Amino acid sequence: MRSDVLVVGAGPAGLALAAALCEAGLRVTGVSPADPAAPWPNTYGIWEDELPSAELAAMLQHRWTDCVAYAAGEELRLDRVYGLLDNPQLQAHLLAKCERGAMRWHQQPAGRGMAHHATHSSVTVGDGTVLTARVVVDASGHKPVFVQRPPLGQIAYQAAYGVVGAFTQPPVRAGRLVLMDYRADHLDAAERQQEPATFLYAMDLGGGRYFVEETSLAHAPAVPFDLLKQRLHRRLAHLGCAVTGVDHEEFCLFPMNMPIPYLDQLVLGYGGAASMVHPASGYQVGAALRNAPVVARALAEALNKPDASPARVAKAGWRALWPAERLRKHRLYLFGLQTLLSFDQVQLQHFFAAFFHLPRKYWGGYLSNTLTMPEILQSMTGLLFAAPMDVRRGLLGAALRHPLLFVRAATGLG
Ligand SMILES: Cc1cc2nc3c(=O)[nH]c(=O)nc-3n(C[C@H](O)[C@H](O)[C@H](O)COP(=O)(O)OP(=O)(O)OC[C@H]3O[C@@H](n4cnc5c(N)ncnc54)[C@H](O)[C@@H]3O)c2cc1C
Repeated sequence: MRSDVLVVGAGPAGLALAAALCEAGLRVTGVSPADPAAPWPNTYGIWEDELPSAELAAMLQHRWTDCVAYAAGEELRLDRVYGLLDNPQLQAHLLAKCERGAMRWHQQPAGRGMAHHATHSSVTVGDGTVLTARVVVDASGHKPVFVQRPPLGQIAYQAAYGVVGAFTQPPVRAGRLVLMDYRADHLDAAERQQEPATFLYAMDLGGGRYFVEETSLAHAPAVPFDLLKQRLHRRLAHLGCAVTGVDHEEFCLFPMNMPIPYLDQLVLGYGGAASMVHPASGYQVGAALRNAPVVARALAEALNKPDASPARVAKAGWRALWPAERLRKHRLYLFGLQTLLSFDQVQLQHFFAAFFHLPRKYWGGYLSNTLTMPEILQSMTGLLFAAPMDVRRGLLGAALRHPLLFVRAATGLG
């Protein structure tokens, strides 16, 4: 039996959408090289208020109300609850929804071929089986199997090296989450001026265990893992502690500014494949969970129409995922990222200190992509007035170096 939707990939994006499609009453098939229940390898952090329902808010394995950042010599209190997702619980929750919708999974890689016809598309998987569906969703991550994008420009990567484990001394205060610690006293002057800035992301996991991660928010080319690892250990030594036992090492690398895919292609993207990473933070899982029901509804409606074709259904999906307002905001975020890429250590610290001094509605809404365009412009103007001269000069410099990006971001045109 031909399914309505074929979902490629079983990461957070693929599973979130597959579950929502099943809930919308569609017949769904999935394809993944590994068992979709195999544990996701990454540690996913999220602001609690980004989880769209109480049901999903129950999927946090840790919650922190004591959240801080350090920048420009200040400890900045972040009045917002942060959590770490309980991956196995979230996966089981989403897979249970898939099961209730009688979804079938093929444990094969997709990619040996794809063809589009008037009423359906077909995908050939690793063992040569041809799967057909009325529309295909590619959720295979940041290097998608099928989704096409305009030529890539200079890609900036978020890179991080982290350790979950035990330490000689607590690296962070009991019960605390440090979202970003940009203090750089452990580096010499040349390193601070010439090398890319990195920060510590750290949290108390309880029971004497901590997660510490040295992170480069965005850099082109990516900051190498060796440097991040060395920086982490130097920072820990400066804090007076060292790692005594490692439960898990995390190597994090993903693109922050991938171009938006072509929105007229016959396959729909979702998650990393659809460039859904927020260019200001690198976060995406919250957006994948929040948007899944919206995109599922759009696909269900389009599939119900008598003239449904892969092209029409995929178009409805792209429109739900990237409506005009979200595209405009994305351009603004890209300009913001381009500006941050040109900042040195000191400017970055000044920027983030001013950013986290904005009312929570603004900094929180900017990071979670919940502000309207006028609200974003208002918050950025407020930040510019509050920020020191070097940040204003940096922004002006970025506008002059990237005039097209700036005009498109500021006007929403193009
Ligand atoms: C180490 C790390 C930490 C991160 N931390 C956070 C965080 O804290 N919060 C946050 O919001 N974001 C975080 N991100 C960013 C982003 O949210 C993740 O990259 C997220 O995993 C992307 O989800 P995805 O489902 O789009 O892609 P992926 O998680 O990459 O999943 C893609 C899926 O597609 C499958 N696949 C690949 N090729 C094929 C094929 N040929 N056929 C079928 N299936 C295929 C893969 O097996 C996989 O199951 C992090 C990223 C990394 C790398």
